[in-house]
Amino acid sequence: MSALHQDLFPSSVEKISISETEQSKNSFLSALFLNNTVFIQDKKLYFVVKKEQKIYHAVPMRAMFNKVILLTNFPLLVLFISAFLLPFYLNIKNKRKNYILIKGINNKLASLHHIFEIPTLEKSNHDTFSKLNTSLDLILDKANKFQHESSINIFQDKLTGLSDRHAYLQHLSEQLEKAEKLNTKKSLLFIDLDGFKQVNDSFGHSFGDEILIQVAERLKTTVRNQSLSSLDSVTLLEKNLSRLGGDEFSIFIEDVADPAKAVEVAQHIIQEIERDFVLGNKVIKIGASIGIAVYPDSAVNAHALLQMADVAMYRAKTDGRGIFRIYSPEMGNKMRRHHYLLEEMRLALANQNFKLSFQPIVNVQDCSILYFESLIRWNHPVEGEITPSEFIPIAEDSNLILPLGDWIIHEACRQMAAWFNAGMKKVKISVNISGVQLKHRELHPWVMDILDKTGLPSHALLLEITESCFIEATSDTIEQLDLLRKEGVQIAIDDFGTGFSSLSTLADLPVDIIKIDKLFIDQANEKTKYNKILESISELGKKLNLKLVAEGVEEAEQFELVRKLGIQCVQGYLVSRPETSRNVGTKVLKNNLNHVAMTGTNVWLPQKLNTTVNNVVIK
Ligand code: C2E
Ligand code: CA
Ligand code: CA
Repeated sequence: MSALHQDLFPSSVEKISISETEQSKNSFLSALFLNNTVFIQDKKLYFVVKKEQKIYHAVPMRAMFNKVILLTNFPLLVLFISAFLLPFYLNIKNKRKNYILIKGINNKLASLHHIFEIPTLEKSNHDTFSKLNTSLDLILDKANKFQHESSINIFQDKLTGLSDRHAYLQHLSEQLEKAEKLNTKKSLLFIDLDGFKQVNDSFGHSFGDEILIQVAERLKTTVRNQSLSSLDSVTLLEKNLSRLGGDEFSIFIEDVADPAKAVEVAQHIIQEIERDFVLGNKVIKIGASIGIAVYPDSAVNAHALLQMADVAMYRAKTDGRGIFRIYSPEMGNKMRRHHYLLEEMRLALANQNFKLSFQPIVNVQDCSILYFESLIRWNHPVEGEITPSEFIPIAEDSNLILPLGDWIIHEACRQMAAWFNAGMKKVKISVNISGVQLKHRELHPWVMDILDKTGLPSHALLLEITESCFIEATSDTIEQLDLLRKEGVQIAIDDFGTGFSSLSTLADLPVDIIKIDKLFIDQANEKTKYNKILESISELGKKLNLKLVAEGVEEAEQFELVRKLGIQCVQGYLVSRPETSRNVGTKVLKNNLNHVAMTGTNVWLPQKLNTTVNNVVIK
């Protein structure tokens, strides 16, 4: 069988007699072509494709080659040509694609030029790539400027131009990381202005803003002069000084080889802030309280360090303002207690867990009840009784005293209205009003509304305001108190003698009663100086036609002394501890109801005193 078939070469097959080919057979070529018969005739090489009796069907080698090679290698040929042409094709295609892409980029750049307000380039002078390059250069330039400006904007406090809290904390973190590696100490000052709120309240916010700008300038100068400066290379902002917000500033001291350095800086700042601030024709005085925290003694990360300095600052405030305090762990405990009580108070207020107790203030002559002071009580489900001396200042700090105070006055008036209707027509109820309430409540409408709602006559209400709150009261507050007095509400100065008010101002204040602080009563029998003060307060009261109450009378001798000095009323454990409303009701209304009906009050006899007071036998 032949490997090749004659059908492959229909037109080239020649028929040749076998005998003619006998001598020209080529065995070598036959072997080469897989034993197909090959012969030469007329100088042409023939390849036998079929044998038929005495005839060969043969194909000339050239024809066969043409056919076979073309036939068998055609795909290869196509592949070869394709491989040759492909790079050209791809190149052209890429060029086209790039052209479209660059055109698109150029269009986008033109838009960016427009946005960034960069003048567009002249088309003729630039080929596509150099145009692209120049465009990018211009935009990069603009972007750098923009980054510089925005990084200043992001990290800068708008009002004072100092680093803001965010940038400052970032800087602190970096510094503390370095300090950890080098095992060095750093310290931080938390500065809070004293009396800034009053400036804002009295003169307005734009005035307050001016003060903050001037404070920032003074602090900047201090940082420079005390060699505490560290400038940011890009923004040129002072990194070691920040306005944290409101009237709070902070200074970071990188180099505390000498721990006394922080103290020295704090003292210097206190002096600087206490210098007069001049604004237009006004001279303003404020102060600063400073807390100091030291890395790593007080805390080991930036947030905590700032927080501890804040805690120490808070202590500086409560210890008298205008001073500095260095953080100690005991302060942290106090802070935690503060936050805990604040949260618990919010809950207690929502769940109505507060109660009022009532302590009688009686006349020294006949022990008739002049009024009851309402005093808040908090029986905590876990802690038991928590004293108002602990939680009221916290409520005042957070302004929680506003909703709490609303509840107190409402509850006191409601209770007194019930007693009033039961016959205690001459007895009053007193409510302690805090300084925060004076500032935030418009007193006249606020009180009148509560009286209206509870049905208590205005003459049955007394407001107790401490001497220190009176000193800080604005003319607006005094006006409101005046209006209330005209309605019949009485006003008492509480804790008198502890607030250092000048006696001359006393005559101008809208007051009816002076409550002399327990401190004087405690000391009067032992120290003649206090005895003399009591005497002169008593004289003053008489001259100004004010009723006097001695607070905290616990002993019979104190009661006697107070009576001798001409002080008309007493309040104290000797007469009664603060009582529940139920006990007051039982003691005053159930006993001797006729007496109450006739006089509008009753007597509240001291239990331990065994003497006769104006014909009233006190056992
Ligand atoms: P305060 O207004 O001077 O109230 C008198 C405080 O002296 C009361 O303490 C009372 O229980 C106590 N006291 C009365 N007689 C004696 C005595 O003979 N000896 C002693 N050692 N203490 C006596 P309390 O109830 O613990 O209140 C303490 C302070 O808490 C009050 O002083 C007042 O400043 C504040 N507070 C109490 N209740 C309220 C309230 O409802 N509202 C506001 N804003 N403050 C309140
Ligand atoms: Ca009081
Ligand atoms: Ca008092």
